[in-house]
Amino acid sequence: MITDPVCGKRINRGKAHAVVEHEGVAYSLCCPLCQAEFERNPRTYAKPALGEKARKKPDRHPYRGQ
Ligand SMILES: [Zn+2]
Repeated sequence: MITDPVCGKRINRGKAHAVVEHEGVAYSLCCPLCQAEFERNPRTYAKPALGEKARKKPDRHPYRGQ
């Protein structure tokens, strides 16, 4: 379960209406209204503890070239 940062509702991962990325953290929103509200004021709602680290391509390989 993950928490919608706008309304605080707990939602099932994968059942979120939308996932919005802000400063490298992915937030799940339950409905179009929450998504619009989050996108309007991302800094009000974005709390890294509520989100998940956005997946980045593993393009930094420590042993590359060796
Ligand atoms: Zn919501």
